[in-house]
Amino acid sequence: YQAKSRGGGCHAFFDVGLRKRVQRHMDLEQDLRHAARLDQLWVAYQPVAELSTGRTVAVEGLLRWQHPVHGAVSPGEFIPVAEETDLINRIGAHMLRTATGQIGAERPGLDVVLNANLSPRQLDDPGLHALVQGTLTDSALPAGDLCLEVTEEAIMRDPTAAARVLNSLRELGISLAIDDFGTGYSSLAQLRRLPLDILKIDRSFITDLPESGELRVIVSSIITMAHAIGLAVVAEGVETAQQLDLLRDIGCDHAQGYYLSKPVPLDELLTSGLT
Ligand code: C2E
Ligand code: CA
Ligand code: CA
Ligand code: CA
Repeated sequence: YQAKSRGGGCHAFFDVGLRKRVQRHMDLEQDLRHAARLDQLWVAYQPVAELSTGRTVAVEGLLRWQHPVHGAVSPGEFIPVAEETDLINRIGAHMLRTATGQIGAERPGLDVVLNANLSPRQLDDPGLHALVQGTLTDSALPAGDLCLEVTEEAIMRDPTAAARVLNSLRELGISLAIDDFGTGYSSLAQLRRLPLDILKIDRSFITDLPESGELRVIVSSIITMAHAIGLAVVAEGVETAQQLDLLRDIGCDHAQGYYLSKPVPLDELLTSGLT
């Protein structure tokens, strides 16, 4: 009986935790509906460097939410909340307009490609093509300097539909990247049929470099295979000089990570003297 009552206690405790999380989830969703209008959402930019020259050739725009009560809420928490409803389409549109506007306005001084993330639900949105076309028209960013990142997961949900959407986006003159590569179930053989330009190797493959011999072989073969199908490779989550050196040695094209720079506000990006 004792064990049973203790079990019951655990159960009640779990329920309180669960209820709290559900409540926070609902509160965040409610607040997120107004966040864009209230200027609580802003875009941080993380440089992507070309390994052969060390030059910053791109920046990835990453959404930030400064909540009036909770403070900084991470996109790892609020993007999934938005992704459950059509909210992601509104927030995604806001993000794209803000980032293309900001990076476009800095030309020609800041000559970088802007990378922006598309969520799975945005890929399904029939208004996506018009949105991207519209933001390009309204901003000074050339289409060739916009790169949209999609995850394997988003593509694999419906590869045929995804191929159609990606092809239509590509016709606008933008480039496309596969994000978090290695975390999903796609193979390079499947990706070969899609109009992709860039492959981003997920951070989980980079963390234990260069120590893990196994990972060295895996990352090196991903790079070789990606090049064979015409994709340039970005390593994500590079945190040390050793990782950077190894990646350069094994032919990786670009790197992004805290070792180079954390995501920073636009003014900081502009004063960082990008080379
Ligand atoms: P992601 O697209 O894979 O973005 C890279 C994440 O890795 C960012 O986290 C970045 O801050 C972090 N990161 C970069 N370098 C390092 C490093 O060296 N070490 C470590 N530990 N982390 C590093 P962040 O900004 O928290 O974003 C998390 C995820 O939220 C993104 O992952 C992306 O999936 C999503 N997200 C962010 N902004 C947007 C957006 O505008 N739209 C959509 N759909 N998703 C977004
Ligand atoms: Ca990304
Ligand atoms: Ca334009
Ligand atoms: Ca990623």
